[in-house]
Order: sequence, then structure tokens, then C-alpha cells
Amino acid sequence: MRLCRFEDNRLGVVRGTSEAPVVHDVTRILEALPSFRYPLPDHDPLIAALPVLRPRIEALADAAPAIPLKDLRLLPPVASPRKIVAAPVNYRLHHEEALADETLHHGTNILPIDKAGLFLKATSSLIGPSDPVVIRFPEARNDHEIELVAVIGTRADRVSQDQALSHVAGYAIGLDMTVRGTQERSMRKSCDSYTVLGPWLVTADEIPDPSALEMQLMVNGETRQRTSTANLLRQVAALIEKASAFYTLVPGDLLFTGTPEGVAPVVAGDVMTARIAGIGEMKVAVR
Ligand code: MN
Repeated sequence: MRLCRFEDNRLGVVRGTSEAPVVHDVTRILEALPSFRYPLPDHDPLIAALPVLRPRIEALADAAPAIPLKDLRLLPPVASPRKIVAAPVNYRLHHEEALADETLHHGTNILPIDKAGLFLKATSSLIGPSDPVVIRFPEARNDHEIELVAVIGTRADRVSQDQALSHVAGYAIGLDMTVRGTQERSMRKSCDSYTVLGPWLVTADEIPDPSALEMQLMVNGETRQRTSTANLLRQVAALIEKASAFYTLVPGDLLFTGTPEGVAPVVAGDVMTARIAGIGEMKVAVR
């Protein structure tokens, strides 16, 4: 199942072909979620309820008319992640390019993932694919980083690799936009609009093997990044084991798995096209 959020916080099931996707509005299912009083829950309530609600979501989609997706404003498919966990250098060739280029490493010691561990991005940086990335520091280098994103579905506290994928609700395409410089990653990658998630959430049953997905990022039609997740140094399951060793992952948490080689700057007016096989494609403007 492919779930999107669109327009005024509506929920949709995406069907149809990749050339002409359509959305079936299933917003009514949100009435089945618990109503909350302060304090709010520590997780994303819709993602937590998905396993229970899924049959009713499918039935609502069957009965709802098909709306062409191209006319809709897509929001991030996860509304309220509590954490955005991200992998630093997790492709060998990206490590090599980062070490070789002063405008990438800025004299900082860029360690591969087995030494550096993971970092966090501010949740306030999250946008959907229909909103533009707004360059915050035009005097600096602002790079695109396409990444496979795993969305956590169930609580994961110190889980082992062999259990890890059972905690994944699904996958989406992520852009980990980055200001290059000497500051901590948690600052440089947390500017408003510097975390793009879309175009929708593909549930994990449709992607049994996240370690064999072709991905590509183009800027203004020119390919900049292209690889397969087969080249990840640490796969999704290993990243979940690592993250959950330090903190409990909860439903809706996002796990950005790292970007391949080919990172490069974008400027206002550019359009990024990001594709991952088995998920889909999204076009994101830079302003
Ligand atoms: Mn990244």
C-alpha cells in the first residue's frame, strides 16, 4: 500500500500507474485514531495504528473516487516523527569524494559510519515534496543528498539486526539537504525545509529487500547521483540495531540511511528529481 498526505492534512491511498498515479481519499480513517489531550503521545499515532487500520483504509480506498495525483499538493507522508535519525558517510565512494574535496570536508575529520555513529536532524526541518527547499545561507554551499528512508512502525529498543526489519512500517525517498561548513551536522542539516520526505510511504510488504534498490537524483534533468542501496556500508537492519542500542525508536521515527557519491550544490531556481525503484519519483523545487 502507498499512503500519501495531501492538501489540508488529508490522507490518501496512491494507486494507478507510475505515469498516472491517482489518489483515493481515505481521510475519514483519521477519526479512528484516539483523540488526545495534553501531553501528546511520544510517537506518530497514524503510523502506530497502521497495522490495525490497514484493512479499513484499503476498503475506504476501494470506495473512494480516483483523483489525479499531479494536481495535488503532497505533504510529508509522516506528519509527526519524533526523531529524524540519519547516517553520515554510509557509501564508500561518497566517503572518498568527501575526503578529497575541501569544500565538502572543511578541514573536519570525516569518519565513515562504523566510527562516527549516527546523528539527528531537527523534526522542524521536515517538508513534503510539493514545498520548495528554501536556501537558508546562499553564501555557503548547499548540497542535495538523496537517501532511502525507513519509517519505523513499532517500538524498537536494543533490537538485533535479524529482528530489525520487522520494526519498519515502510519506506520513502528522502533529501538530506546540507549546508557545508564546520558546524555540527545537527545544525547544518536542520535548517527549515532541509529535510524532504516523499512522495508517499510504501509499506514494507512491498519492499521485502531494501538492500537492492536503484536510486537516482537529477538536477534540472542532469544526473548527479546514481547508485543502488546494495552499496550501503551499513544496511537498514544494521542502522536500526545501531540506533536502537542508544535510544528507543518509536512509530513514525525516520531513519535516513546516507547518501551516495555525487553530492553537489543547488541554488534557487533549480529543480531536483529524486527516484528510488519500488518507491517512486518526486520533483522538488529550490528557492
Ligand atoms: Mn545525508
